[in-house]
Amino acid sequence: AAPAETLGFQAEVKQLLHLMIHSLYSNKEIFLRELVSNASDACDKLRFESIDNPALLEGDSELRIRIDFDKDARTITLSDNGIGLSRDEAVANLGTIARSGTKEFFSRLTGDKQKDAQLIGQFGVGFYSSFIVADKVTVVSRRAGLPADQAVRWESDGQGEFSVAQVEKADRGTEVTLHLRADEDDFLDGWRLRSVLRRYSDHISLPIQMRKEDYDAEKSEQVRTDEWESVNQANALWTRSKSDVTDEQYREFYKHVSHDFQDPAAWTHNRVEGRSEYTQLLYIPKQAPFDMWDRDARRGVKLYVKRVFIMDDAEQLLPSYLRFVRGVIDSADLPLNVSREILQESRDVRAIREGSAKRILSLLEDLAENRQDDYAAFWAEFGQVLKEGTGEDPANQERIAKLLRFASTSTEGGAQTVSLADYVSRMKEGQDKIYYVTADSVAAASASPHLEIFRKKGLEVLLLTDRVDEWMLSHLREFDGKPLSSVAKGGLDLESLADDEEKKRQTEVAEQFKPLVERLQTALADKVKEVRVTLRLVDSPACVVVGEHELSPHLLRMLKNAGQ
Ligand code: ADP
Ligand code: MG
Repeated sequence: AAPAETLGFQAEVKQLLHLMIHSLYSNKEIFLRELVSNASDACDKLRFESIDNPALLEGDSELRIRIDFDKDARTITLSDNGIGLSRDEAVANLGTIARSGTKEFFSRLTGDKQKDAQLIGQFGVGFYSSFIVADKVTVVSRRAGLPADQAVRWESDGQGEFSVAQVEKADRGTEVTLHLRADEDDFLDGWRLRSVLRRYSDHISLPIQMRKEDYDAEKSEQVRTDEWESVNQANALWTRSKSDVTDEQYREFYKHVSHDFQDPAAWTHNRVEGRSEYTQLLYIPKQAPFDMWDRDARRGVKLYVKRVFIMDDAEQLLPSYLRFVRGVIDSADLPLNVSREILQESRDVRAIREGSAKRILSLLEDLAENRQDDYAAFWAEFGQVLKEGTGEDPANQERIAKLLRFASTSTEGGAQTVSLADYVSRMKEGQDKIYYVTADSVAAASASPHLEIFRKKGLEVLLLTDRVDEWMLSHLREFDGKPLSSVAKGGLDLESLADDEEKKRQTEVAEQFKPLVERLQTALADKVKEVRVTLRLVDSPACVVVGEHELSPHLLRMLKNAGQ
């Protein structure tokens, strides 16, 4: 065999390792969750690849994860008979961070241990969490399908380098050995390991096995036998009935599927029967991932077909405006060899997408109604994405519109807390429109001279300052029968709100300034379409408005900036 080679970690890995060891110490047993999660993913991948290539199973199709420890050597070993790693895969996957959002993550670090620990958790600690408890990690792995002498041994002390060597391994799959740090001996205990595994990994659908222990009367202690026993339920969590799953199990399962560290904000678990049959377990995260706005970000949910894992990030199963949702969909109808291309076309997939959107909207409605603080937190993270739904999902536009929250002239400091229903309930006698102003910032919106008359009349105006707002407005034209109307457009039509006194005064003023208006009209003939006397201003002498059917100046500026 070739001699071992020493390679350096990517700079970001070094930084992540350092941060993790120092800030995740109080939560150190999560390494077990991460390693079990990886072993489970590896078995899922093998099962999927073996659909087309059964030879990969090498006669051993009982996939499982085993955990053992050695008190004398002070090691813990996790082994799986999943897909395994080739040498190149080991170098790439255990030496770099190849994930979108990495740059964003590093740019947000503050140096404050607690805040950074949160960020790391949100970013996902994964395999590298081994180094929280271990000062040396050895991975021996053989990819399914490769000959026994083409296994790889990867080893590192988590400082700056790792070594890889070609070795022999009779059975396929991966074995991770942790050489524990000096003060981590309490993990060398069957009871302790079992209790952590039960807590963190009970939802895993494969058997997680440990050596059975017997009481040895002579030694008067528990001794391990050569027999393996499962320590988890080993059936897929989403296939259980709701009453058999605890909230804690739902939360742990979320962490497994989402690679998130925090608890989810909410979830919905349903079995759908009828024309198309599937089970969905969908979660709304608390926080947006680092890569939410990246083009190549992971999105979508895991797809299973009859409990067999098919693919991660099946974005076709959810509309794009719900791309923050994580979870699992298990279809009873799709073929096992379904591809992304087929997903695009499939009628079953369309039924799933529509069904899932409805469930998530119900979940959000429930949150908005019953857990308002949580809904406000959701809105702050994902509101801009949800707004895309007003155009993307016309069938659900009304439901989405009810979920929208805006800043308005009656909220403090631009907080987006006003629903369209709130607005409508506060409309003045005679007001038949929902008024809004668009601008780049709340400060610019509130300073708009167009607002003067609205302030004077005590009419509320929505302040729309998100990039997606103009796009939303081109789709969302009305709410509850009331048109959405820009305060910057001409023909404001505030007459219905003016009293007789005002109407009379306007006629007088218009008469009085007729000559001035005519002169201005001539002077500005090539610059404006029309000059007119208005009621809309209170303090400013004049303002520019756009025609009823023309693009707003804010939108024009955005288009210009985008080079159009
Ligand atoms: P993630 O699980 O989010 O991809 P990890 O840091 O946990 O990130 O793992 C990194 C990569 O290492 C995995 O994506 C996988 O390719 C590989 N890997 C880790 N553990 C195993 C394993 N037990 N078997 C096969 N591949 C593994
Ligand atoms: Mg992982």
